[in-house]
Amino acid sequence: SRDIPGPGIRVLDESTINKIAAGEVVERPASVVKELIDNSIDANATDIRVEIRGSGTKSIIIVDNGTGMSHKDASLAFQKHATSKINSIEDLNSVLTLGFRGEALASIASVAKVEMVTRQEKDISGTKVVVDNSGLRSISSAGSHAGTSISVEDLFYTTPARRKYLKSMRTELAHITDVVTRHAISYPDISFTLISDGKVIMRSPSSHDLLDSIIHLYGADVARSLIPLEFESDLVSLSGYISKPQLTRSGNDLQAFFINGRSISSKLIGNAVRLGYYTLLPKGRYPAAFLKFTIDPIHVDVNVHPTKREVRLSHEKEIELAIITAVEQALASTNLVPEARITK
Ligand code: ADP
Ligand code: MG
Repeated sequence: SRDIPGPGIRVLDESTINKIAAGEVVERPASVVKELIDNSIDANATDIRVEIRGSGTKSIIIVDNGTGMSHKDASLAFQKHATSKINSIEDLNSVLTLGFRGEALASIASVAKVEMVTRQEKDISGTKVVVDNSGLRSISSAGSHAGTSISVEDLFYTTPARRKYLKSMRTELAHITDVVTRHAISYPDISFTLISDGKVIMRSPSSHDLLDSIIHLYGADVARSLIPLEFESDLVSLSGYISKPQLTRSGNDLQAFFINGRSISSKLIGNAVRLGYYTLLPKGRYPAAFLKFTIDPIHVDVNVHPTKREVRLSHEKEIELAIITAVEQALASTNLVPEARITK
């Protein structure tokens, strides 16, 4: 017979439950970076610095200049299902913050050693919180800039199995760069810096628009092949850039889709974009597409998966049609991005 610990069914203890639940939110170092940047954006930060060591496995430090937290909120932030963003399930019909599940900080703290220092502008002193998988270890007053900094060390030290399944350092770093890049595209007015093992590997200064971000992050050659796209219907407003059919890739690495500021992956959207090109794309090739959708949150279910990377849309057919039409119109216009915008 198989070797199953007996006897019978039992309810798991709290710390085991937390580690299992954390696996849904914190898959890899990049998931920590994503959750913490989401929080900084929700806190209205305009400057977000991400500093990692060992591709995030050794440490991840995120410093923002957002609203910060009161002493009381700082003491609650790491509790499971503790959030300042919604009160009831109905609020999901109008939620525009990136977070709302109140899970990220609790999950991260159950699989890593976490320290947070935070201060609200109006408070004289800040708060320092130290947490590990056994819970809140200490909370004290501390000097701090206005805003929040969170340090996450020894990720997955409590879950060696998860640690073992991490990919190479290079792959984990690529995932982190991807996360920061997507946030930078989606929020051009926020300045992002990514520092890896002491070296600045990405910097996206603020106060520029989507095109400036694309030029900055993907280069002038990609930008030269881009066609602006704008589309508006009762249901959805859509803006961004797609490429001439001549600029394609074998994968979708030149594609980024955002719904109400949230980076999402969507087969529906990717397919609709391709359909808009009709027969212009070589087989197995993908165009560039950087598209921002604004849709009434009532039509977007973001509560499909803990990471919120997948969303469910009502009125899928109309949205698909809007995308196809928008792509067709953009291609027909053959307006390229003006050279002056690229080499200014
Ligand atoms: P959620 O984002 O879903 O609310 P989290 O576990 O990510 O849940 O965060 C819990 C709460 O901690 C947030 O609702 C917010 O009030 C507070 N918080 C987290 N990070 C920050 C930050 N960088 N600045 C200000 N408040 C924060
Ligand atoms: Mg959050």
